[in-house]
Amino acid sequence: MTQHLKHFIAGAAVEASDGRHIDLVDPVTEQLYGSSARGTREDVDRAVAAAHAQLEEGAWSLLDGAQRARLLTRLADLVERDSELLADMDAQAIGRSPMEPRRMDLPNAIAHLRAASGWANQLEGRTIPSGGYFGTKTLSYTVREPVGVVGAIVPWNSPLMITVWKLAALLAAGCTVVIKPSEETPQSALHLAKLAQEAGFPDGVINVVTGYGAEVGRALCEHPNVAKISFTGSPEAGREIQRTAGVLFKRVALELGGKSPQIVFDDAAFEDALFGCSLGLFANQGQVCAAGSRILVQRSIAERFAAALAEAANSVKVGDPRQPDNQMGPVAKKAQFERVNRYIQLGIEQGATLLAGGVSKPERGFFVRPTIFANARNDMTIAREEIFGPVGTVITFDTEEEAIAMANDSTYGLAATVWTSNLTRAHRVAAALKAGAVGVNCWSPLDANLPWGGVKTSGIGREGGFGGALAYTEEKVVTVLLPS
Ligand code: NAD
Repeated sequence: MTQHLKHFIAGAAVEASDGRHIDLVDPVTEQLYGSSARGTREDVDRAVAAAHAQLEEGAWSLLDGAQRARLLTRLADLVERDSELLADMDAQAIGRSPMEPRRMDLPNAIAHLRAASGWANQLEGRTIPSGGYFGTKTLSYTVREPVGVVGAIVPWNSPLMITVWKLAALLAAGCTVVIKPSEETPQSALHLAKLAQEAGFPDGVINVVTGYGAEVGRALCEHPNVAKISFTGSPEAGREIQRTAGVLFKRVALELGGKSPQIVFDDAAFEDALFGCSLGLFANQGQVCAAGSRILVQRSIAERFAAALAEAANSVKVGDPRQPDNQMGPVAKKAQFERVNRYIQLGIEQGATLLAGGVSKPERGFFVRPTIFANARNDMTIAREEIFGPVGTVITFDTEEEAIAMANDSTYGLAATVWTSNLTRAHRVAAALKAGAVGVNCWSPLDANLPWGGVKTSGIGREGGFGGALAYTEEKVVTVLLPS
C-alpha cells in the first residue's frame, strides 16, 4: 500500500511549499511504501503563524483550564478508540511488533492525556506576602501563563507516545504547537492532529510539519515566534538546538539518550533480574532511550548471569514482526543497522567476549541478532556510547562502592536500575546514582504522573507529572498598590 502524507496546518492537509517529498522505507522489506511532504521554512512559517494566531486572539486563547481539560479528555477517548490503528502505524514505520506499542506506548499515551486534563485545572498562582512599596501596603500575586508557541521535535523510536508526552502537557498549560515528527515516522502524529480536530480543538492549535531535522527542525528553532523547543533525540542534535535557542533566549527542554546501568547484586532475585535485564535490552529492538545496556553484575553470579542472558538472547525469535510468532523485528533504518553492527564489531575488536549474536548480515531487512558481550570493561566503547540496538554489555564488579562508581562513570545519566533483596542497600544505592530515574527491582517504569528526564548528557528538564505541565508556563507576578 503506498500513501502520501501531507503537513497538517491550521486544520487542513497541506503539501510542501515546493512540492518535494521524502520516501518512506519499510525496514522489514527495504521497499518504499509511501512518502511524506518534505517541509520547508515557508511551511514552518505558515504553521507557526496558525499556532501564534490561536494563542494571541483565537478561540483557544479564550478557553479556561476546565474547557481545555474537557478537550483533553475527549482526545484521550479518541486515541483510545483508534489505539490499535495508531499502534500499527508506529509499528509499521519502524518494523516493530505491533503488540509492543499496543501494550506499552498507547496505554501510556492515553494515561498522559487523561492526567493532563487534571493538570489543566490546577495551574494556580500564589499570593505572596510582600514588604510594601515606599511605605504603602501592596498585594502581590502570581498567575501561570502559557509560555507561547512550542516547537515539539520528536524521534522515531516511540513516535506517538513521545509526541503525546509533549502535547498533553503543553495543551494543559494553554500553549499551541508545531510538531515535527521524525522523517521516518510521521504517520501517527498526523493522525493524532486529526483526532484533536475531531475532539474540538480549534484549528491551528496543533500543527504538524513533516520533514528533516536540518530543515524543518532548524527552522522551528530559529523562528522568532516559537517560544520553547521541546526536543527528544540525540545529544548531537540537542547540542545544536541548545546553541540556537541560547542565542535567541528560547526555553528548551532536551530529552536525550542514555547508557543506563542495571546493577545486579548477588542477593537479587535471579530470575526477576534476568527478566528485567532482558526487557531493558530487547524491548523495541533496544531502541529505547532508557535501555539498560550496561549490565553490572556482582562477581559471584556474573558468569551464570551472563550465560543466562545469552540464552535469553538466543531464544528471541527474530523475523518479520507482522508474524505473531516473531518476537523481534528489524532495527528502524539502514543507518541504524550499520551503526549497531559497527559497535558489535568494535566490541569484538576491543576484546569483550561475544556470548550471543554478533555482526548480522541478513539477506533482506535491517535485522540485527540480539547480542551479549561479557567480560567487558567500563572504558570500552560499547560501555560508553549509546548503541540504540539489542546489544548488552556485561561488566563484573566486586563491591557496592565499585558498582556505584562504575554506574556513575558515564557521560550519560538518564535511568538506572538496582536489583537487590536488601532494602537498605537499595535506598543507599538509589541515592548515590546520578540519573534522572532509578528503578529498584523494576526496569524503567513509565507513568504519566512521574517525571522523566536525565542529567549530564541525557538532557535538561523533565516531562510527565504536574511539573511537566508547569514547564510550559511562565509565572507572572502582579503587584497592586493598596493606599489606606
Ligand atoms: P535525532 O536527534 O537524529 O532526531 C530526533 C529528531 O530531531 C528528529 O525529528 C530529527 O529530524 C530532528 N533533528 C535532527 N537534527 C536536528 C537539528 N539540528 N535541529 C532540529 N531538529 C533536528 O535522534 P533519533 O535518531 O531520531 O532518535 C534517537 C535518539 O533519541 C537516541 O539518542 C535516543 O536515546 C534519544 N531518545 C531519548 C528519549 C528520552 O526520553 N530521553 C526518548 C527517545 C529517544
